[in-house]
Amino acid sequence: MIKYLDLKKITALHKTEIDNAVSRVISSGWYLRGDETRCFEQEYAAFIGAKYCVSCGNGLDSLSLILRSYIEMGRMRKGDEVIVPANTYIASILAVSECGLNPVLIEPRIDTFQIDDTLIRKAINPRTCAVMAVHLYGHCAVTDALKDLCEQHKLLLIEDNAQAHGCLFNGQRTGSLGNAAGHSFYPGKNLGALGDAGAVTTNDEELVLIVRTIGNYGSERKYVFDYQGRNSRMDELQAAVLRVKLKYLDSENNVRIGIANRYINEIRNEKLRLPSREYCANSVHHIFPVLTEQRDELRDYLLANGVETMIHYPIPPHLQRCYSEFNGLNLPITESIHRQELSIPLNPALQKEEVDLIIKLLNEF
Ligand SMILES: *Cc1c(COP(=O)(O)O)cnc(C)c1O
Repeated sequence: MIKYLDLKKITALHKTEIDNAVSRVISSGWYLRGDETRCFEQEYAAFIGAKYCVSCGNGLDSLSLILRSYIEMGRMRKGDEVIVPANTYIASILAVSECGLNPVLIEPRIDTFQIDDTLIRKAINPRTCAVMAVHLYGHCAVTDALKDLCEQHKLLLIEDNAQAHGCLFNGQRTGSLGNAAGHSFYPGKNLGALGDAGAVTTNDEELVLIVRTIGNYGSERKYVFDYQGRNSRMDELQAAVLRVKLKYLDSENNVRIGIANRYINEIRNEKLRLPSREYCANSVHHIFPVLTEQRDELRDYLLANGVETMIHYPIPPHLQRCYSEFNGLNLPITESIHRQELSIPLNPALQKEEVDLIIKLLNEF
């Protein structure tokens, strides 16, 4: 059986180094807000090409800490509108509504799965304060047109970089393209911890201070509270693991890119719609999406032949019960992606024979 994602195998790629890092932390007797998180923050900021990095508890927190801090800074007010893609993992939208801001859902382009920047212009009004660009599936969602639009209308550009660590756009990393970026290190992401972890990157000195303070109970100095903050911290253990894995991120992303290139070059089946070559040029392939009208048959066929797949995602956010206010929205492209999408295995632990088999099965479907 080829699992969709075998985290045991992925961790095993660096088992000795990870074991050493973990035991170093255990022996240190220091488990939160210490050298490991400090070093990880510096190393990750340097990797992304941002001035600052603040670690936090998870990816959702990274996004809500950014928005909450902008509200504290007076750059946004409750009730303001944030443009978000309708086709995303729900966390991007939850961060917006959790902060008392209004998510405005915009359709994606069918060829990139990402927010259609030509539709953003029509949604902009005096209450619009920001655009959240989600680098879904590992593909960069920021375009020159989107950057220009944000500058022209003085909108903050916030990146959700949960799925695209290491992705390059015009020589710059995603996570350094806008005003601030949230990152998730959930175990299955390209840079994954052994539990929950997240981070914010930005060049904005004022923002970084407030994010750090709010994530630490609103306190900058011990027992002095400037904000009604929360507790969102990265463990030293997770930071130590991430420091090991960060060193290999580019080479593991290259393995992903190699597999994706084999998929687009070697899979030939008119029933399947694969990502285009242009799409692949701008992606670190967190997820390799295949679209087909026969999605459920394809999933069952692959499973019967020993290949596990996943759907990202089965129900779009606007049709979830928790967002009943959006249930009536007309978002046909988002809905067709959710109806047709199947993610086939793609990760750095996948063996050549496994890739061969997946290609053969898809060609014979
Ligand atoms: C995983 C993910 C998140 C949330 O990250 P957590 O660490 O699970 O909180 C946010 N946005 C996107 C697009 C994600 O894929």
